[in-house]
Amino acid sequence: MRRFLPGEDLAAALDAAAEFARLGLGSVLTQLGEQVKNAAEAAAVRDHYRGALAQLRDRALPTHISVKLTHLGLEVDREGAARNLLDIAQRADETGSFVWIDMEESRYVDVTLDLFRRACAEHDNVGVCLQAYLRRTPADLESLFPLRPAIRLVKGAYNEPASIAYPKKQDVDASYLALAAELVERAALEEATPVFGTHDRSLIADIASRAKERGLAKGAYEIHMLYGIRPAEQRALAAAGTAVRVLISYGSAWFAWYMRRLAERPANVWFVLKNVV
Ligand SMILES: Cc1cc2nc3c(=O)[nH]c(=O)nc-3n(C[C@H](O)[C@H](O)[C@H](O)COP(=O)(O)OP(=O)(O)OC[C@H]3O[C@@H](n4cnc5c(N)ncnc54)[C@H](O)[C@@H]3O)c2cc1C
Repeated sequence: MRRFLPGEDLAAALDAAAEFARLGLGSVLTQLGEQVKNAAEAAAVRDHYRGALAQLRDRALPTHISVKLTHLGLEVDREGAARNLLDIAQRADETGSFVWIDMEESRYVDVTLDLFRRACAEHDNVGVCLQAYLRRTPADLESLFPLRPAIRLVKGAYNEPASIAYPKKQDVDASYLALAAELVERAALEEATPVFGTHDRSLIADIASRAKERGLAKGAYEIHMLYGIRPAEQRALAAAGTAVRVLISYGSAWFAWYMRRLAERPANVWFVLKNVV
């Protein structure tokens, strides 16, 4: 577990963020958890992030946060989740930080994009994740451009039916590349702020060469990777001048999240089994 998590509490995540900052890397913090069962749990998550933002400001860390809408109470009360999100965005505004909205299962895409649009109407420090494996994503991306959005493009981590998401890796990769090319183009026109959330070396190289061709400044896009995955690559990219952030997850509710990390790479399952045996 420690391979993917600096620890279960916020203090460990903040220390890891400080260490990344010392090495010239940014970070994004996310408290693990999803699908809270009542408004009190959702309010506790909101208050946790408010406290985390205050600590980031006090320690002057170059760190963003990333939230899941079902962690903020989406399945309990949609308006309550919207209020929690807007409250966190307001607090991030006041503390000089930035809020990313994770994308969860495909049944949440419409409501996530709705709440992202609402947050954008009031704040310019909010971005949303889009998943390249979804067949609908090119249209979603196009619909967001009028907002000059901050988009974190990922491949997608949930089990989705083939009618909704590309089942084959090669098709997901091709979709990612096409969406990334569009984002680079829009960034060159200052119509989007792209973040590429991937550990895929060949995609990252392709994005870098497209960005160079389009004359994009190095800071005009960022690469985000997960804590513990390809750490040497994270440092090498940052040393070469690419803006890199590491997404640091922490908290006790790690089971669902950990299972998704294992599913991404069969070798991880063997690694865990070997250690158990
Ligand atoms: C910053 C960030 C935010 C994310 N946010 C979301 C989100 O909001 N919603 C969502 O659905 N998904 C999210 N994801 C997960 C994403 O959808 C992918 O499941 C994950 O990033 C693996 O895809 P990849 O692009 O790295 O490519 P892959 O082709 O899966 O991996 C490329 C290479 O990276 C290495 N690698 C990748 N994953 C692992 C792993 N778990 N363990 C060890 N090595 C690995 C392997 O060497 C692999 O060959 C996020 C990912 C990142 C990096």
